[in-house]
Amino acid sequence: MRGIRARLIIHFGFILLLIVLVLEGLFYWAVHTYYFGTATETLVTRATTFTTFINKYAGTYGLKEKARYILENVSNGETAKVEVLDTGGKVLLNSYGFQTAEVIDTPDLKEALTNTTGIYVGKSPQTPERVIAVSNRLTYLGETVGVLRYTISAEPLYAAVYKIAMYGAGVGAVVVLFAFGLSLVTAKRMVDPILELTRAATQMATGNFSVRAAKRYDDEVGTLAETFNYMAEEIGKNEKLKNDFISSVSHELRTPLTSIKGWGETLLSGGLNDPEETRLGLEVIAKETDRLIGLVEELLDFSKFQSGELKLSRERLDLRDVLEDVRVQFAVRSHDKGVGLQVVVPDAPLPVTGDVNRLKQVFVNLLDNAFKFTPSGGTITVTAEETGRWAVIAVTDTGEGIDPEDLPHITEKFFKGRSKQAGSGLGLSICQEIVQLHGGHFHVDSRLGSGTTVTVELPLTTK
Ligand code: ADP
Repeated sequence: MRGIRARLIIHFGFILLLIVLVLEGLFYWAVHTYYFGTATETLVTRATTFTTFINKYAGTYGLKEKARYILENVSNGETAKVEVLDTGGKVLLNSYGFQTAEVIDTPDLKEALTNTTGIYVGKSPQTPERVIAVSNRLTYLGETVGVLRYTISAEPLYAAVYKIAMYGAGVGAVVVLFAFGLSLVTAKRMVDPILELTRAATQMATGNFSVRAAKRYDDEVGTLAETFNYMAEEIGKNEKLKNDFISSVSHELRTPLTSIKGWGETLLSGGLNDPEETRLGLEVIAKETDRLIGLVEELLDFSKFQSGELKLSRERLDLRDVLEDVRVQFAVRSHDKGVGLQVVVPDAPLPVTGDVNRLKQVFVNLLDNAFKFTPSGGTITVTAEETGRWAVIAVTDTGEGIDPEDLPHITEKFFKGRSKQAGSGLGLSICQEIVQLHGGHFHVDSRLGSGTTVTVELPLTTK
């Protein structure tokens, strides 16, 4: 048996059929008991009352006289056949007035002879019909001399019970059919969303990540559809990230490579005769190679962050020293570009437990961005201060600023906003990761046209 639908229908149908059959059986038994019980009880009452009457008022008559007396006194409206038998079961007289040579040996007779009311429900030995018979003993001076037997046909009862049972079976059949239909509908409601989900998954397997599974009902399968859609969304995002990565990296690789190749060819064709030009060319080649190395390092860092492999080698350090190193590193660039660089640190040390090189990388990156986006004549200020248990470092520039629409995405991987400047778009995202690995916070604030402030908060080491 295959498929949830078939299994459901068969299991459901089987259980229901069983329940209906058991209920039908109980119903039949109850109806049968009620009908036959009532009829037997009525007959017993009539027969016993009459026998008591006879035994009382004709107690001194012999059996033959009794029989005559009985015939005279049996009520006009009596529907049962009344018979007088001797103790051997021979019929002396019946209410139709005939004497037959019949001998009756049904169990009710034997019971009556032992002084209890004998009841028999079953086939009549004389006729093919089923009967209910009630027998009581007749006495003569206290001695048992015969039996008074009442008999009615049980056929109408059987017919009535059969008719009711047939009605019951009809209702049962309707219930089973209805349940079958219901299980068909239920199975369809359960299976259809799963089929839809399977179709969506198959489409996804062929690379179409824009498909979404419809959530039909608010149940387990609905939740599965939601989770599935969430998964599709995440895979789609990762796919986009991968594509962004490839296009961003190939672009970033091509620019310096083109310039290196260009200068290489220029120098070769000139035969290295012009020392000035040769120097200029080699400088460009060295600078572009640095850029390539920087890019490759960023990519390596990025992949380490992605796989959670990056480990910090922590030590206790003074943040002021780190900032001083960075200031020295950017002094020449500040002078060359005509952008002022101010580093304001407190007199007291700013003790932090962290990775010197990684923290330096963060500030180098922030200053690199600040210089990149600040035109000549602007200023870049780095301030560091102690605020409660935190060291707060802010890098503020008076540069072009960031579009408010871009601001929330600025720390995303490969995001470069509207900037035409070179870069992989990984810098800020790596900075944020490093700061967070140190247990700190990273925040970018900017106003388009007037400048940007990047704030880094690192936990101070107090002990
Ligand atoms: P990249 O390595 O390409 O510079 P970043 O992650 O460091 O990438 O920066 C992402 C983008 O954020 C930059 O392309 C630029 O658009 C914007 N940005 C970052 N810092 C500044 C800043 N100080 N002023 C203006 N824009 C900035």
